[in-house]
Amino acid sequence: MTLSNNNQDQQDWTIIQISDTHLMNQEDLEFVHMNPEHSFQSVMQQIRQQYPNVDAIINTGDLAQVPVAETYSRYLSFMQRLGIPFYQIPGNHDNIDIFPFYQNKDEAQAIHFGRWSFVLLNSAVQDRIDGWIKQEQLQQLEVLLAKLQQQFVIVACHHHPFEMRSTWIDQHILKNTENLTDILAKHSNVKAVIFGHVHQDSCHEWQHIQFISTPSTCIQFKPLSEDFALDDEAPGFRVLHLKANGELETQIHRVLTARQQINREISGY
Ligand SMILES: [Zn+2]
Repeated sequence: MTLSNNNQDQQDWTIIQISDTHLMNQEDLEFVHMNPEHSFQSVMQQIRQQYPNVDAIINTGDLAQVPVAETYSRYLSFMQRLGIPFYQIPGNHDNIDIFPFYQNKDEAQAIHFGRWSFVLLNSAVQDRIDGWIKQEQLQQLEVLLAKLQQQFVIVACHHHPFEMRSTWIDQHILKNTENLTDILAKHSNVKAVIFGHVHQDSCHEWQHIQFISTPSTCIQFKPLSEDFALDDEAPGFRVLHLKANGELETQIHRVLTARQQINREISGY
């Protein structure tokens, strides 16, 4: 494995997490009475203005609401035009068979930024809303973490590993969190686990590892709600500042220009 050179080891990195873009097969179609393409583009515009020197963008899944080839190819060509390295992992709304995996389907993948590495996992299971990380990927994660002992590591998956205290969302949690945390607990260099799926900002610390979620670029779910409910918060994104000394600084930004009239009367999505 080739890791970074010395120059890069002294560098800080700015990585953006976006999530749950829920794009339709055509850009003018609406989802829950709002246009996810417009809010996604408003979010991307703010990212480019606020962080002109971004090192990479990671989408933590539910890239598509209508998971067909047109949706994925439109997303890929939009992202390619930005000229910023970008990566994505699938969510429960995606079609794993045609999802544009960074490398191989269903394989834990590592990407490197100086002293930092991300490990991308697929927690989506075809035809299920809840999540599960397959044994093969967990084994690959273990091998990668052993190789990356000198690196600071962030793991990314779609589903939330710990409860959000929101009954309906927690039915759709990652179901084999223990298998994941058993591995993470053995590695003191894992700094964070980032995920989407819950369409809200959250942060939860477990054994010095931050478990953090990110707002969707379209609709937001109401925190702590027993039943399905949408929230008034604007769409958003997360910035991760990775320092060469191993410190991680992170915050979310809401994008007010992406806020659209959303029909909160709906009972599901
Ligand atoms: Zn979603």
